[in-house]
Amino acid sequence: MFLGLDVGSTASKCVIVDEDGHIIAKGMYPSGAGTAGPQTCVDEALAACGGGASLADIRFSCATGYGRKLSDWTNIQISELSCHARGAVELFDGVRTVIDIGGQDAKVLSIGKDGTLENFAMNDKCAAGTGRFLDVMASVFGCDVSELSAYDERSTQIASISSTCTVFAESEVISKLASGEDICNIAAGVHQSVVDRTYGLAQRVGVKLAVAMTGGVALNTSLRRRLEERIGLPVATSELAQYNGAYGAALLALERCEV
Ligand code: ADP
Repeated sequence: MFLGLDVGSTASKCVIVDEDGHIIAKGMYPSGAGTAGPQTCVDEALAACGGGASLADIRFSCATGYGRKLSDWTNIQISELSCHARGAVELFDGVRTVIDIGGQDAKVLSIGKDGTLENFAMNDKCAAGTGRFLDVMASVFGCDVSELSAYDERSTQIASISSTCTVFAESEVISKLASGEDICNIAAGVHQSVVDRTYGLAQRVGVKLAVAMTGGVALNTSLRRRLEERIGLPVATSELAQYNGAYGAALLALERCEV
């Protein structure tokens, strides 16, 4: 078995594949680098393999993500750009553009016809346009981030959020709620703000079909639909979207196995 571990800023993800690259098990824990999250998601994935599987059953392993260097028990550590590209090529037929929005960064990867990473653009300096922005707004709404999509589905207009800075945008959302503006329209505005930032990032590398969205924010269906409208192209996703980096890491562990 081959193990991929993605130690993100917000969540830790683990995928275990067999020697044909098929997924045997996965695990996730909602905390990332510097916490018990990485170990917990590895334990969860091993338990899901059944038969009392342990790390001794893993032939080669690869860590990726923000906190990969702290996971030095893995055989290799590879940048998240390479792992995300590798995972996406497997998950999405003919993918040429990968839009990954995670907890603290957003990136757009341009993939060549041969499946290699050609170019990328990244925002890892500012919370605007990332999952963090959505997490902050969900806490203002008093809901879980997974519920934002349903609010947007019931929107009739897009409330304009003029501040790009997360802190100022949070104050803007608080005052819109206080002035009685419809929470569903505000959710639409929050999503549109992330979409506009993502579109700007995508323009820097150019968007080619097929386009896929990965990272935890890909689970937000309304946001993904707004992104499709903005780009003017279909944006595919997968139930494995949040595991894409860990999946790519597991496949690279299999391909680079030295034992
Ligand atoms: P990282 O790799 O940086 O830790 P992830 O790709 O795991 O980030 O994405 C985490 C983000 O995904 C969270 O900050 C949150 O905004 C978003 N997210 C997680 N679960 C959901 C969900 N069920 N619905 C919508 N958004 C989600």
